[in-house]
Amino acid sequence: PTPVANNFLRTIIEDDLKNGKHTTIVTRFPPEPNGYLHIGHAKSICINFGLARDFGGCCHLRFDDTNPAKEEMEYIESIKESVRWLGFDWGTHMYCASEYFEQLYQWAEYLIQQGKAYVEDLTADEMRAYRGTLTEPGKESPWRSRSTDENLDLFRRMRAGEFADGAKVLRAKIDMASPNINLRDPVLYRIIHATHPHVGDAWCIYPMYDFTHGQSDAIEGITHSICTLEFEDHKPLYEWFLDNLPVPSRPRQYEFARLNLTYAVMSKRKLHELVNLGIVSGWDDPRMPTLMGIRRRGYTPEAVRAFCEMIGVGRSDSWIDMSILEECVRADLNERAPRAMAVLRPLKVVVDNYPEGQAEEFEAPNHPQKPEMGSHRVTFSRELFIEQDDFMEEPPKGFFRMTPGSEVRLRYAYIVRCTGVVKDENGAIIEVHCEYDPASRGGSAADGRKIKGTIHWVSQAHAMDAEVRLFDRLFSDPNPDRGGADYKQFLNPLSVEVIGTAKLEKSLADADLETRFQFERQGYFRPDPVDSQPGKPVFNRIVTLRDAWTK
Ligand code: ATP
Ligand code: MG
Ligand code: MG
Repeated sequence: PTPVANNFLRTIIEDDLKNGKHTTIVTRFPPEPNGYLHIGHAKSICINFGLARDFGGCCHLRFDDTNPAKEEMEYIESIKESVRWLGFDWGTHMYCASEYFEQLYQWAEYLIQQGKAYVEDLTADEMRAYRGTLTEPGKESPWRSRSTDENLDLFRRMRAGEFADGAKVLRAKIDMASPNINLRDPVLYRIIHATHPHVGDAWCIYPMYDFTHGQSDAIEGITHSICTLEFEDHKPLYEWFLDNLPVPSRPRQYEFARLNLTYAVMSKRKLHELVNLGIVSGWDDPRMPTLMGIRRRGYTPEAVRAFCEMIGVGRSDSWIDMSILEECVRADLNERAPRAMAVLRPLKVVVDNYPEGQAEEFEAPNHPQKPEMGSHRVTFSRELFIEQDDFMEEPPKGFFRMTPGSEVRLRYAYIVRCTGVVKDENGAIIEVHCEYDPASRGGSAADGRKIKGTIHWVSQAHAMDAEVRLFDRLFSDPNPDRGGADYKQFLNPLSVEVIGTAKLEKSLADADLETRFQFERQGYFRPDPVDSQPGKPVFNRIVTLRDAWTK
């Protein structure tokens, strides 16, 4: 991956700092606490926290908690944990939009007093009918001409809890004929009698997102309010509020293209559904695109940050292929993951000329290119396991692994020659026999003869049993969310394969739960932090060694 891709926001900020528009920048990441974060949010987090870091500014974490019905404390805690996991720190700058409810309320009264807001009695359906369409102007509500006094009185009674949910709303009085539908007297407040996770029952009217966001930015002194492109149409409204309210600062909104990732769905509704239907084991299922999921799977925050850098920040909608994310994970783990040997589908091998009861140790480097990462010991003995796939009785041309009559190298140990097989009554191979060349200690022949194949192995008596979960993409179609069909029909039936019979080299016995390994020739793995038990390890495959999807 190339480290720095283009990011038009950098240029804007550089100019703003150079020409003195700002002396320092303040950004914010504003999640709504109604679900868990996903890889799309990671892009927004990396942009906002990354710009603040790079320009010596500050990034706020702000919970956009304006809808009490859908929001929960559990999400708040999980969002904080995910942002920290990605490597970012908001310091003392954590806020909630609900902290500004009183100020927002005062500003709503201010608009009423200025003749720029009114209490609406039309029902939601009627309001929709009055709103008009893209080609047709809207119609003014009969309640639009209420007096300031009547509006103030009604709005105060809304706050006092006199009216039922949906009975009235407060609207801005802007322009029912505006070509931008967002400016056709948008709703500012609605009545919701619900307990809010932060402010409890203090309020029964709640401000809309549009009436909250820009003012919150202004209160916090945000300089660059960075959001996804779907808010471009809201920008005139964002600015209308800043123009018409006595706000303490003047933030500016910038939009960027959201992350669309192939082979994944990211809408909260669909992620909820995958969990609720039991299609995945939970929000942290290692196949989920949630930050909890990819974290449990073993993706590193470094890889996710590198991915976000690499894809850059632009203004045109585009799709990023899942293979790019996977390649970032591979690139990071290739640098850092210690190597180890694990046999997933074991086939027993007996080295007939190796003394029974004897064992010896070989030094295996933890990383082939990085001696500074040290080494570990692997134990060799007469009875071993190799991968079933690494043996063929009647091999096709070009098969350089173990096959009767020819030689193969057992990595780090010896060259062996296969002498025969033992089969069960059904003809299935249950054991392979071979002889080792004692002069090939370490793996090279004394006479310099070339051995084409090298395979991994573990010693039967020294191996540890493990469960290994081979995760793959959750969907087998690049665009499961394309519409016109149920996305669930594109689920990948092979998105997880559980192998209960794996044999690991014993150095993995006390693997730290956070360590990611390369199982040689297999891929990158980590202990599952939830299901792994001392003495009963479970390993997750994080990513394969090579991309098997891109053709
Ligand atoms: P939903 O629309 O499913 O409710 P959301 O995207 O609105 O999800 P928020 O909690 O409002 O979720 O998002 C917080 C921030 O993350 C917003 O600024 C939003 O623009 C950004 N964000 C969300 N999804 C993506 C994405 N796919 N790519 C980039 N940024 C995203
Ligand atoms: Mg949302
Ligand atoms: Mg949103």
